[in-house]
Amino acid sequence: MESQKIGIVGSGLIGRSWAMIFASAGYSVTIFDIEPSQVSNALKLIKSQLEELSESGMLRGTLSVEAQFALIKGSNSMEEALAGASFVQECVFEKLEVKQKVFSEMEQYVGDDAILSSSSSCIMPSQFTENLKRRNQCLISHPINPPYYAPLVEIIPAPWTDQSAIDRTRTIMESIGQVPVTLKKEVPGFAVNRIQYAIIAEVWRLVEGGVLSADDVDKVMSAGLGLRYAFLGPLEVMHLNAEGMQSYMERYTQSIEHVLGNFGPTPTFTGSGLEQIIKEMDAKIPLDKLEERRQWRDTRLAALAKLKRDL
Ligand code: NAD
Repeated sequence: MESQKIGIVGSGLIGRSWAMIFASAGYSVTIFDIEPSQVSNALKLIKSQLEELSESGMLRGTLSVEAQFALIKGSNSMEEALAGASFVQECVFEKLEVKQKVFSEMEQYVGDDAILSSSSSCIMPSQFTENLKRRNQCLISHPINPPYYAPLVEIIPAPWTDQSAIDRTRTIMESIGQVPVTLKKEVPGFAVNRIQYAIIAEVWRLVEGGVLSADDVDKVMSAGLGLRYAFLGPLEVMHLNAEGMQSYMERYTQSIEHVLGNFGPTPTFTGSGLEQIIKEMDAKIPLDKLEERRQWRDTRLAALAKLKRDL
């Protein structure tokens, strides 16, 4: 069991999730938020979520709810929250100025070996770490929502991040049961959003171009491609769908090139296509049913995560 301390800065949705995941592996966690009521509220929410997870058999780790909750503390002082922490996960608003301010504050309170890691979804690490004294210890560990069930973490270094900080972050992520991937250099969108946006562009073209309804285009993923992608990625799918990758490319390169050549430009995401997609999505899941549907989604993702762990 871990004895290292983790500092969490920002106690919204992602900060709470990180706190629960770290505690599930036995780390001591201290949460700080600029808004003190957010910290007390986060602790209450975490306690009730841990209890629900335990009742539904989805609690991570081997420790009891009480033992996990006892590992999580709140603080209204960043200095106190970060003192002695070997790893700090920043989870504040996705705004460049806020990230810049918070990173320059955080570096004042950590020891020489501490890693300062951001949950940022879109801002590149070089944008908010360049002028820091400890910039070689900074990187991004980008989770996927909901992190408790979707274990992928993208590690994105800035050009000046030490290799040892990257390696240690990978080890820490593996120790808490997350699945790290490391970008060798920062690129806009990192890996997840680049791939996600490529999919969004094509589903948009298919609906806008009158080929599929919004509901049917989503089924292509949820009842088809997504099922195998839950276990293996597109490259392994190719390798298995022929006698290895070389044989797949010999068979299919021409048709891949033909279809890709037919894709057309990036959609503008405006006008009648946008109106049609909004109308179809609102009819399928009315806005007052979004929360209900999110819970439906999380229950299924939890069951899938459990299945993947148990297989
Ligand atoms: P959120 O709005 O739920 O929470 C942000 C928290 O940060 C709030 O509690 C706020 O009070 C606190 N905060 C703001 N300024 C602060 C400061 N200066 N010092 C300390 N605390 C401060 O946001 P979230 O959804 O938890 O997202 C946090 C980060 O995680 C963002 O960078 C976001 O891009 C990233 N992220 C979000 C998701 C997602 O689906 N929500 C997924 C992956 C990554």
